[in-house]
Amino acid sequence: MSQYQAVKGTKDVFPDEAVQWQLVEGVVRRLAGLYAFGEVRTPVFEYTELFQRGIGATTDIVGKEMFSFLPDPQGRSLTLRPEMTAGVMRAALQRNLLSQAPLHKLFYISDLFRKERPQAGRQRQFTQFGAELLGASSPAAVAEVLSFMMGVFDALGLTGLRLRINTLGDLEDRARYRDALRAYFLPFADELDESSKERLEKNPLRILDSKNPALKELIAAAPRLFDFVKAEGVAEFEEVLSLLRDRGVSYEVDHLLVRGLDYYCHTAFEVTSSELGAQDAIGGGGRYDGLARELGGGKDMPAVGFAVGMERLLIAMEKQGLLEGLKPVGPKVFVVVQQLELSGHAMQVAFQLRRAGISTELDLAGRSMKAQMREANRLGAAYALFIGQTEFESGQYGLKNLVSSEQSTLTLDSITEILREPLLCG
Ligand code: AMP
Repeated sequence: MSQYQAVKGTKDVFPDEAVQWQLVEGVVRRLAGLYAFGEVRTPVFEYTELFQRGIGATTDIVGKEMFSFLPDPQGRSLTLRPEMTAGVMRAALQRNLLSQAPLHKLFYISDLFRKERPQAGRQRQFTQFGAELLGASSPAAVAEVLSFMMGVFDALGLTGLRLRINTLGDLEDRARYRDALRAYFLPFADELDESSKERLEKNPLRILDSKNPALKELIAAAPRLFDFVKAEGVAEFEEVLSLLRDRGVSYEVDHLLVRGLDYYCHTAFEVTSSELGAQDAIGGGGRYDGLARELGGGKDMPAVGFAVGMERLLIAMEKQGLLEGLKPVGPKVFVVVQQLELSGHAMQVAFQLRRAGISTELDLAGRSMKAQMREANRLGAAYALFIGQTEFESGQYGLKNLVSSEQSTLTLDSITEILREPLLCG
């Protein structure tokens, strides 16, 4: 064993497990295509201020979870992205996207980094897929984004999910609510735990996120944000819910749901899975019209998005047996050579087959024929193509179907014709 281990909270993925990722990624890409979302890729690191402004200084992410570093002693601090929305909005503003077209529907599958204590479903490097719809945040836009997200779960066959949804009102509603909440918790300040005490001053809304059982009753009896939302906000929320019902998306309205990130407004949602333990949130999102202004864009930009954690999604799928029997697809043909001197020819044969779109493997380690056959079976090859001295000289090769054991003797051109598969390109 090497003296080096992967850093705690990070993970290596080999082909056996990579197929699980490819399954999910394939479905995300397919659904993104169906819903007409285009892929966005942004840098893995950004200036630290982007996240401080974009996520909010009082959030756990910015407060204690960012991997930040100075590129050089005089440089500006950089941070490995802990989430995608701020980076995507930065990129959209930098490119002035909305001046090119009024609406942009973007999706991503990206690695993120947070300095958290590693545990099941909580890593220091993890992957999210998500979408950001820029230029609209109408009820239709919210429903569109939610349908895409729930569509991915449906297509994967995942069940036992709970979609909770709430409205956070606008900035003004939240400011009034923050004051009311502070006034409510203040007389109980001594009963609050340390982190809630801190939140009382800086951002009392976040006390509602507390998982501390001792505070459960106190939190349940707190004033509700919903009661501070203006009538227009409530009407819009009702419309979102009605669109979700029309599309057959089931949800639960939960007025206690507040998202930790400061830039959310109006509709916010979260999906949890009954298959996950303490870290049961699988994804979440909502509207963030105020983020563009916060990042210096000069004005609000209607926007709505979601993010889903791939690791937790895979854990839930595994628990429901949705990953069973999944294994890497083997080569169609394994070229078996009788003696080492023929390996150059075997390569040419493999080359011709591959050019015809036929996945082909061959021996690269000078193994015996028996070992090559064993390898062909281990990989799940459909055919073995034999090359001995006679085959080499006559140009007639033995082709064995490894499932039926049927064997025939054919020229390479006929084999190529029989097994040919259309190439993706060229
Ligand atoms: P958030 O951006 O915190 O709302 O997270 C969105 C989703 O990303 C969560 O619901 C999780 O599925 C996933 N997630 C967040 N943090 C982690 C982490 N440290 N490790 C693995 N997944 C995470």
